[in-house]
Amino acid sequence: MTNTNVVSKSKQKSIETVAVHGSKGYDPLTGAISYPIYQSATFKHEGLHQSTGYDYARLQNPTREEVENTVAKLENAEFGVAFSTGNAAVTAVLSLFKKGDHVIVSDDLYGGTYRLFEEIYSPYGIEHNFVDTTEIDNILDTIKENTRGIFIETPSNPMMKVTDLKRVVEIAKERNIVVIVDNTFLTPYFFRPIELGADIVVHSGTKYLGGHNDTLAGFVVTNSEKTNERIRFYQKSTGATLAPFDSWLILRGIKTLHVRMEYCQRNAITLAKFLENHPNVTDVFYVGLPNHKGYSIIKEQASGFGAMISFKVKNVSIVEKVLSSVKVITFAESLGGVESLITYPHTQTHSEMPEEFKRKLGLDDHTLRLSVGIEHIDDLLIDLENALG
Ligand SMILES: *Cc1c(COP(=O)(O)O)cnc(C)c1O
Repeated sequence: MTNTNVVSKSKQKSIETVAVHGSKGYDPLTGAISYPIYQSATFKHEGLHQSTGYDYARLQNPTREEVENTVAKLENAEFGVAFSTGNAAVTAVLSLFKKGDHVIVSDDLYGGTYRLFEEIYSPYGIEHNFVDTTEIDNILDTIKENTRGIFIETPSNPMMKVTDLKRVVEIAKERNIVVIVDNTFLTPYFFRPIELGADIVVHSGTKYLGGHNDTLAGFVVTNSEKTNERIRFYQKSTGATLAPFDSWLILRGIKTLHVRMEYCQRNAITLAKFLENHPNVTDVFYVGLPNHKGYSIIKEQASGFGAMISFKVKNVSIVEKVLSSVKVITFAESLGGVESLITYPHTQTHSEMPEEFKRKLGLDDHTLRLSVGIEHIDDLLIDLENALG
């Protein structure tokens, strides 16, 4: 599938070009095509009340600024702020809420975000409900006087549930509720929530933006000046900023975002079909399969399906066999890199969710999650074939 959903030309270059060229495109000082790593903690003042615009690297750093502006541009938004990890970015967003505020959160979501709501922000008095946001009525039934935010992951992790973002935005706008979307799985190449009216996008840049399983990073993107100021203030005050070298690694990763996403997706479509027909696999959750419940929403609101697949095998002994016998695919946490990775959410990424909660989601001990990389498809197919027995 090609990315036909390119934004209006007057507003921005096509996303592939933004990915390759970044925000400034090159270093204005030297002409360097590869944006330099400004490995400096502090910056010289020429005199009293004089500044180059850079004072101290927790506040500003040119390399970080370039990656922040690049990610904002990719999302077709005004502002981007880079953090040391995705969790730091989510934490910054949650700092927008106060004691007594209520947030509606997708029930199927990254384990670390679940933990932040449950263990860190709940004790501070930020109320939340985990809701199956694929049913809009569930959201309407949960909205209260003090509901200030809706936090969604779509497709969700790991059950690949799809939320109708347009409908969520409609509901939220009428009530002054902030809509936050974790766009880690589809990336701005396939999905741009801000264009659909979302207020804030968060990313684990560790995943597809970086793309090489070598750097941790997180981003917060918004069109709201007020939100941006608050997030920047939080970044400056709490200090979980992205280091210059890591900023550069993410910039470098982004240059091939579109190429990787297309290739990963192509492999994923083939693997999802293969898994669907395998006798030891009982269910396949991939939003690119026409029988997926969220398929039509994805087709309408995004320009691609991504490359994350979850599937259930017949019994736990097959889980063990798969994880110990894959050779091309690596048994490891994380996702979104050029290497295919397989993980076991039940006891890994989602270990801290209570059993009852996981049961409700359908996240059982037969479920595996596959992040499809860019190896040759035949090697991936043979690997899975051998591992599934
Ligand atoms: C990995 C991930 C996070 C957390 O990001 P880190 O960079 O690991 O802190 C948040 N959301 C999603 C969807 C993720 O996959």
